[in-house]
Amino acid sequence: MISGFKNIALKMGQKTLDFILPPLCLQCHTLVLQQGGLCASCWQKISFISKPFCKSCGFPFDLHHELESICGPCARKKPPFTRARAAIYYNEISKPLILRFKHGDALHMTPLFTEWLYQAGQDLFEQAEYIAPIPLHWSRLVYRGYNQAAILSRKLSKKTKITHAPDLLKRKKRTPSQGTLTAKERDKNVSNAFKLNKKYDQLVRDKHILLIDDVLTSGATVQACAKVLKKSGAKQVDILTLARVIKSEI
Ligand SMILES: [Zn+2]
Ligand SMILES: [Zn+2]
Repeated sequence: MISGFKNIALKMGQKTLDFILPPLCLQCHTLVLQQGGLCASCWQKISFISKPFCKSCGFPFDLHHELESICGPCARKKPPFTRARAAIYYNEISKPLILRFKHGDALHMTPLFTEWLYQAGQDLFEQAEYIAPIPLHWSRLVYRGYNQAAILSRKLSKKTKITHAPDLLKRKKRTPSQGTLTAKERDKNVSNAFKLNKKYDQLVRDKHILLIDDVLTSGATVQACAKVLKKSGAKQVDILTLARVIKSEI
């Protein structure tokens, strides 16, 4: 009953908001039905990442590239995770959508994003024993009210029946935003930023862990997390993100 009232109140709030600020497509600003969404033509421009890609880090290759190969950077230096996969390209179409999701204005996207993650992570679920989000620092969590990666990992855990470990990792230091940093600065920024939650000291040994995040940029954050888990005795760490930044200079 209470949740019914809450829903009605929320809907009324939404109607008022729509009256003052008509819902516009996040990308092209044409009128749409719901706040925080895209118009039909922008939806069609969402690009999904598909094979062929690096079998280690998931970097997408040109179509003529042979399957089951690895990219230059992975060949030069083996990443601490075994496989990284992402559902969509992080580009001018998906960026506003994901930013809105991150800051709490587009939580209605959760089921769709979970479905995209589910499709992109098919190869990763069979062996995974724990599914865990990349953590936010507690102060950022207090400020924002939720961790967008944890929302996705919880839903995905329900869908795949893999045990959810939302507090597996902790962020020790509040790192400045990665946005404007170079790859080297990002590495430095996140090294030693994470630690294993003590209660998993024994549980993580010889386990296969799947880490979830919203966007993979340089990979520095997920690599730092994978390193912590491997050092703590995890057998394998895989990464699944909603989107991935692809820079051509690789
Ligand atoms: Zn649009
Ligand atoms: Zn690679």
